[in-house]
Amino acid sequence: MDAEIIAVGSELLTPYRLDTNSLFLTAELNRSGFRVRRKHVVGDHDEDLRQVFRGALERVELVISSGGLGPTQDDLTRETVSDLLGRKLKLNETILRGIQERFRSFGRTMPDVNGRQAMVPEGAEPLENTRGTAPGLWIEQNGKVVVLLPGPTSELQAMFVREVKPRLARRGGNLRLYTRDLRITGLPESEVDQRVSPIYKQYPGAETTILSAPGEIQLHPRVWSDDKAAATKLLDELVERFRMALGENLFSTSGEALETVVAGELQEHRATIAVAESCTGGMLAARLTNVPGSSSYFRGGVVSYSNDLKSAWVDVPKELIEAKGAVSAEVALAMAHGIRQQTNATLGVGVTGIAGPGGGTPEKPVGLVHIAVVNEKSAKERTFRFPGDRDRIRHQATQAALDMVRRYFPYAAKAKG
Ligand code: ATP
Repeated sequence: MDAEIIAVGSELLTPYRLDTNSLFLTAELNRSGFRVRRKHVVGDHDEDLRQVFRGALERVELVISSGGLGPTQDDLTRETVSDLLGRKLKLNETILRGIQERFRSFGRTMPDVNGRQAMVPEGAEPLENTRGTAPGLWIEQNGKVVVLLPGPTSELQAMFVREVKPRLARRGGNLRLYTRDLRITGLPESEVDQRVSPIYKQYPGAETTILSAPGEIQLHPRVWSDDKAAATKLLDELVERFRMALGENLFSTSGEALETVVAGELQEHRATIAVAESCTGGMLAARLTNVPGSSSYFRGGVVSYSNDLKSAWVDVPKELIEAKGAVSAEVALAMAHGIRQQTNATLGVGVTGIAGPGGGTPEKPVGLVHIAVVNEKSAKERTFRFPGDRDRIRHQATQAALDMVRRYFPYAAKAKG
């Protein structure tokens, strides 16, 4: 069955607030067997609200909104939708007493304006709000359903789970969405698409979307089906073919972050790691320690920004910095060796580069980053030219460093599923 989501609130049309409720609602609706066809964001204006609700009701079986159920004059959803559906609003004494009681429990008297929240359209079912005053509403009309939910996220989510989900379960049919979350690094989006599009075109039963993030591409194959076993089989087959096409660049088939995959490799191989960072200023250490249990593999790290601290803390020879420059392959390697020796870690990582916006030269432009990963016996250095602004360059540097660590392990080719 099809659904549309309407996020109501003039604040959502300013640069300061984003509609995030619809992300939660979309995930939940998909789980209940509803496909979201459109999402709308609309301000608190009677005519705009009317048009959006009217249009959605013409197209789909389920219309679900968030916001505009509050007590103030600019909260119009309840009144506008009742009027649009030709239903009169009636005071519900039980709800009114509930709201009064809620205020009393906080030692306050209910302001008169909150009385509006006890108005229920004829024939509608109120949905209890365990986290706030505004009840939601479930309204059925000509075989279609309109659900009005409050805007505050915790109220909306609690109400959805307690009141809406069980009601949808009785109407949603057997179709469910099955999906996978593949993560790829080391390839640009166009290259990923070139490799995978000939495959997914052969599977019209699955819809595959490609999402790009700095240093990472995500591939989401999705299948709507009423047969779990068949959907799982189709997705397994598709993922296997994607794996063949993407090789070692595919690092997860279950949406894991790169640092989580790296943590798994380090733990599996009982290896430890230490990092010496310059241009990433501790971001690599932060990502490695984002993962719970990181003390089992993360020995420690230093941020050696200045040349003298590169020498004092991780033993980079002063002459080497003078001869090659602080941003050089040689210094990245020396930092990696230095931190490994200082900490007794299995692996040492060194990162040095130019994050910009200033400091670039024709020989060493902004975005140039050298990364080295060393162990007792071997050393690997790679030179990158990352595009984008300072934030993106620094993030991509941590991503590339983590990826080099991942590929260091012999079985990295098998993406974690
Ligand atoms: P209230 O009784 O709190 O007024 P309401 O149903 O009228 O409830 P709104 O006034 O529209 O809700 O929104 C209250 C707050 O909830 C907003 O300030 C905002 O922080 C949050 N909110 C509203 N809509 C959304 C949304 N779509 N996504 C994320 N947050 C939202």
